[in-house]
Amino acid sequence: MSPGPEAEEKTMDRIPDVLPHDAHNATLISNVRPPEWRNPEPVPRYNLVVIGAGTAGLVTAAGAAGLGAKVALVERHLLGGDCLNTGCVPSKAIIRSSRVVSDLRDADQFGIKASIGIEVDFPAVMERMRRLRARVSEHDSAKRFKELGVDVFLGEGRFSNPDTVEVAGKTLRFRKAVIATGSRPAEPSVEGLAEVGFLTNETVFSLTERPRRLAVIGGGPIGCELAQAFRRLGCEVTLFHNASHILNREDSDAAEIIQQSFIRDGIRLVLNCKTKKVEKKDGDKVIHIECGGSTEAIAVDEILVGAGRAPNVEGLNLEAVGVQYDKREGVKVNDHLQTSNPSIYAAGDICLNYKFTHTADATARIVIQNALFLGRRKLTSLTIPWCTYTDPEIAHVGMYEKEARERGFEVETITRWLNDVDRAILDGEDKGFVKIHVKKGTDKILGATIVARHAGEMISEISLAIGGNLGLKTLANVIHTYPTQAEAIKQVADSYNRTRLTPFIKGLFSRWLAWRR
Ligand SMILES: Cc1cc2nc3c(=O)[nH]c(=O)nc-3n(C[C@H](O)[C@H](O)[C@H](O)COP(=O)(O)OP(=O)(O)OC[C@H]3O[C@@H](n4cnc5c(N)ncnc54)[C@H](O)[C@@H]3O)c2cc1C
Repeated sequence: MSPGPEAEEKTMDRIPDVLPHDAHNATLISNVRPPEWRNPEPVPRYNLVVIGAGTAGLVTAAGAAGLGAKVALVERHLLGGDCLNTGCVPSKAIIRSSRVVSDLRDADQFGIKASIGIEVDFPAVMERMRRLRARVSEHDSAKRFKELGVDVFLGEGRFSNPDTVEVAGKTLRFRKAVIATGSRPAEPSVEGLAEVGFLTNETVFSLTERPRRLAVIGGGPIGCELAQAFRRLGCEVTLFHNASHILNREDSDAAEIIQQSFIRDGIRLVLNCKTKKVEKKDGDKVIHIECGGSTEAIAVDEILVGAGRAPNVEGLNLEAVGVQYDKREGVKVNDHLQTSNPSIYAAGDICLNYKFTHTADATARIVIQNALFLGRRKLTSLTIPWCTYTDPEIAHVGMYEKEARERGFEVETITRWLNDVDRAILDGEDKGFVKIHVKKGTDKILGATIVARHAGEMISEISLAIGGNLGLKTLANVIHTYPTQAEAIKQVADSYNRTRLTPFIKGLFSRWLAWRR
C-alpha cells in the first residue's frame, strides 16, 4: 500500500538549506541528506536505536552494525553532524588557506621574494573548503551507512515510550538506545545581540564575501582558530574574551605564545572587558564595551560568536523515559556512559566536557561494548588529548601541572624549547616548546603540553606513552628520525635521563672507565 500525501511528507522533515546553492553543496546534500531518501520500514525491534548522526552516532551505528546488531540511526539535519558540516572539516580547510597567507607573508625570511604581493581570493578560499567538504562527505553518506547495514531514518527523533523512538511518523522499538545529539553554539546574553544578528559556526562557513571588519566573541579554541584564520584571510579582526588571556584553560606560558602570534597577525585583542550591548548604527554593528572604568564603541560588519556550547537535550522527551539531564551540562551519564535509564546510553558532545570529534569516536566505541555486550569499559580509562589548531598549534594530554599538584602528586616538569631543536630552527618554526610533567622521582608521565606548528601531530606519541604506561625512559630509547620536530620529545626524555645521573653514579662510571683505559 502506498503512503498518502501526509505520510509522504512525514517521511523526512524539511530538507535543510545549506548555502550557497552550488554544485559542491549539492554534492554534500546528496551524500548526507539525499532529497530522494525514503526512510525504511522499521524492523519489529532494534538492538540499538541511535539518535543523532554526528561522529558519535555514526561510529556507534557503523560499529554495532559491523558486529551484527540491527541498528537504526536517526538524524534530523545532516549526517556527519558538526564535525563534517560546520566544525572540524570546514574550519581546517580555511585554516590551511590562511597558513598559505602567513607563509607568503614570511617568505622573505626564507630567501624568497613574493614581490607580487598577496591577494586573498576569499570566495575561492570558501569554494575550496566547500569542494573538500563535499568530497569528505562521502564517508558519512546515507548510502554508505545503508550499505553497512544500518537503517537510516531522516527526521527528528523523540522518545515516545521507555522502549520506543518516534521519527517522521515511524515507531522504532529498541532494546538499547544511544543519545548522540551533540551540541550547538551557546548564545551569550548580550543586550541587542540577537536583534542585530550574528554568525556562528553554523553559518560562518556559508560566507561567500569577506566581512571587512569582523568581531569574534570568545577566545576559546573555536573563537581563536577562526579569529586567526579570518584575520590572515584579510578581515580586520577584533577578538573579545572575558579573561585576561586568550585560551585561558591552557597553561599561561603556552597561551602566551599564541597570543603573541595573534598580535603579530594584527588581531586586536579586547580582554577582560564587559560587553554592555550591541546595536545597529548607520549600517554598522556597534559593540559597546566597558574596560576598567572607560567605555568604547567598536564598529564592525559582522559578529562571530564562539563562546561555548549548549547540549541538544530539547525535544527528546527525556523526562518521559527517566533520563536525567542538565540544560548546560547535557545528559548525565555514569562512568560506563549509561544514563539514569539503564537501557539508554549517551556518547559525544551531549554528555562530555571534552567536546571533540575524537572523544565522540572513543565514547561511541565504549557504548557499543557496554550496551550490546555487557561490557564494563569506563570513560575515565580514556587518555584524551586535544589540540587547538591556531598557528602555532597548542596540544595537551593528561594533567596540567597545577591539576597534578591538586591531585596530590609531586611533579617534575621538563621543557624543551623549539629554538633548541634543529628541525624547528630549519623550518623557521621555532616558537614553542614540549613540556612534559612526570611524577617526581619516577619517569611516569602525568601530562604534557606542546606548542608547535604541528603540535596536533606530535601529541599522539605522548598519548601513546600515557595510555600504554610507558615512561620517559622508554621514550628516550625510541629512535626518532633526524631532523624532526618530534625529536623535542626524545630530548625531554634524554634530559630526564641526565637528571638520574647522580654525582655518586657519575663517580662510579668515572672509576670504571679509568680502570678500563
Ligand atoms: C568550529 C568548530 C571546529 C571544531 N574543530 C574540531 C577539531 O578540529 N577537532 C575536534 O576533535 N573537534 C572539533 N570540534 C568539535 C567537534 O565538531 C564535536 O566535538 C563533534 O562534532 C561532536 O560529535 P557528536 O556526534 O557528539 O555531535 P554532533 O556532531 O553535534 O552531532 C549530533 C547530531 O545529532 C543531530 N540531532 C540532534 N538532535 C536530534 C534529534 N532530536 N533527532 C535527530 N537528530 C538529532 C544533530 O543534527 C547532529 O547532526 C569543532 C567544533 C566546532 C564548532
